[in-house]
Amino acid sequence: MDSWYSKTAPAFDSKKSKSILHPFTVNNHKGNTLNLYQGCQHRCGYCYATYEWSPEFYDKIYAKSNAPEILENQLRSWKSQVVQPVMISSATDAYQPAELKFELTRKCVKVLQKYNIPYYVFTKSALISRDLQLHKQYKHNCFLVWSITTCNENIRRIIEPGTPPSFVLFKVIKKFSDCGITCAVNIDPIIPRITDTSSEIEAIVENCLKSGVSYVFGAPLRLRSDIWERMKIVFKLLNREETGVIKDYITLYDFKEPMGPGYNLHVDKTYAGTMLKNLEEKVIEKGMLFGFPNLDENRHMAKTKLKVCNENQLTLMNFM
Ligand code: SF4
Repeated sequence: MDSWYSKTAPAFDSKKSKSILHPFTVNNHKGNTLNLYQGCQHRCGYCYATYEWSPEFYDKIYAKSNAPEILENQLRSWKSQVVQPVMISSATDAYQPAELKFELTRKCVKVLQKYNIPYYVFTKSALISRDLQLHKQYKHNCFLVWSITTCNENIRRIIEPGTPPSFVLFKVIKKFSDCGITCAVNIDPIIPRITDTSSEIEAIVENCLKSGVSYVFGAPLRLRSDIWERMKIVFKLLNREETGVIKDYITLYDFKEPMGPGYNLHVDKTYAGTMLKNLEEKVIEKGMLFGFPNLDENRHMAKTKLKVCNENQLTLMNFM
């Protein structure tokens, strides 16, 4: 993945998918993922969606061109009575530049709305503004999550060179929250020794408050071998190599160089606990909610088969 830190525009291509909505369960939370692109132009060095089997991840973006039709077919023939909330997207960015050309996110959101399906969007993009009206008309049943890792432009340009500056994103968030749409910010990953200072976290939380964000949450960086190799380039580009940062990481993540494939390392528990406690205190102090909106579907029952505009389909607010 040497091509990660590059200003070269990726190539776009299309492919067909056999299915597009994939159920998942995480910590008793059930949902469905909808990934309309493969690859991502945002080029985040810490990206968890890059694996050995996708070496072109940042440089070749595939649009799943038949996604809207496949999604509609899947919903029409859905076996259970309700569809759990749909996460758009877990392994790419639904509003990356390719969306301007292919409009798959817009088309699929329209399908979800047609079937009354609750959804939430994860993005680092300002392009979502294009669909402000679309999400606004469905604000009772969707929420939007922006992943923002830093307000420091020098750091952002290095760690995620394809994303917009945070001040641009906060302006976009304000537009959505002013429309009554539930907005959240996920500070993920919080990168030890790079974006984890109290002032850095404070700056993000303060901007969340000013932008009308309701929920703030975050998580420390996890390390795999490919991510670790990119992080070492990040340290170099930020001139942090001399500060003992590599040694700190080896201690914080408890591994030996070279890190082999197959690792998925969590940071030291005490470090993580302190960092998240600080974040939680800052968020609560500002009067916002800490954590991911609670999607507890067990409190509700659906009674009929899924159909277009099914009145018994649970809304997102049923899960919160
Ligand atoms: S926006 Fe998300 S999917 Fe895209 S490169 Fe960044 S972390 Fe990866």
